[in-house]
Amino acid sequence: MNVVLLGAPGSGKGTQAEYLEAELGLTHIASGDLFRSHLNQQTDLGILAHQYMTQGQLVPDAVVIAMIRDRLLRGDTGKGVLFDGFPRTIGQAEALDQMMAELGRKLNVVLYIEVPDEELVQRLSGRLICRECQVPFHRRFKPFQYCPSDRCQGEYLYQRDDDQPDTVKARLVTFHTETAPLIDYYQQAKILLRVPGAGAIDQVKQATLAAMQQIK
Ligand code: AMP
Repeated sequence: MNVVLLGAPGSGKGTQAEYLEAELGLTHIASGDLFRSHLNQQTDLGILAHQYMTQGQLVPDAVVIAMIRDRLLRGDTGKGVLFDGFPRTIGQAEALDQMMAELGRKLNVVLYIEVPDEELVQRLSGRLICRECQVPFHRRFKPFQYCPSDRCQGEYLYQRDDDQPDTVKARLVTFHTETAPLIDYYQQAKILLRVPGAGAIDQVKQATLAAMQQIK
């Protein structure tokens, strides 16, 4: 089972991915998390990506595609993959189709988590994440000061610099212009399922799991 989580920044992809990963045993591949890990380690790729991230722009397709290809070729994706934040352009979607074909696999479903823009802004401005495992929290909706996971041993949560208001606006524009065409792309491929994402975390979780049941 290979799944894409599609949605605007703040739509809850990371939160739902955390549940789906546990529930379905899929390997979670989040392009934004990969860039942030690179940045924490100050690699050339991380430093390059950061220039785009702080502007609310997309990292060029060739860079993202090479990074995802590399990640897919590690030996831990046999049970299936949960893509989160990738693809974000038609070019990336076409590259993903090709990578899956080369691996003798296919995408089974694209879950599009739909949330109105006003709510996205509210969510992003209160979002905090764990520097270690990158799980998202929220000042009001999921209030923690430290990451509760044993793996992270009480790591402080922090606000991403691209969750500042001006960058948030730019990221939403980028979503509507560059990523939204994927809704049609996957609808035509007949693998798009829409999940209402505006409710409380638990409600969205139930809706996501219900959508996945349809596929199973
Ligand atoms: P995210 O954590 O998914 O919100 O991603 C944070 C930032 O990383 C985005 O605003 C982009 O600058 C960059 N990024 C993440 N995934 C991609 C992608 N698939 N294509 C291009 N840029 C990406």
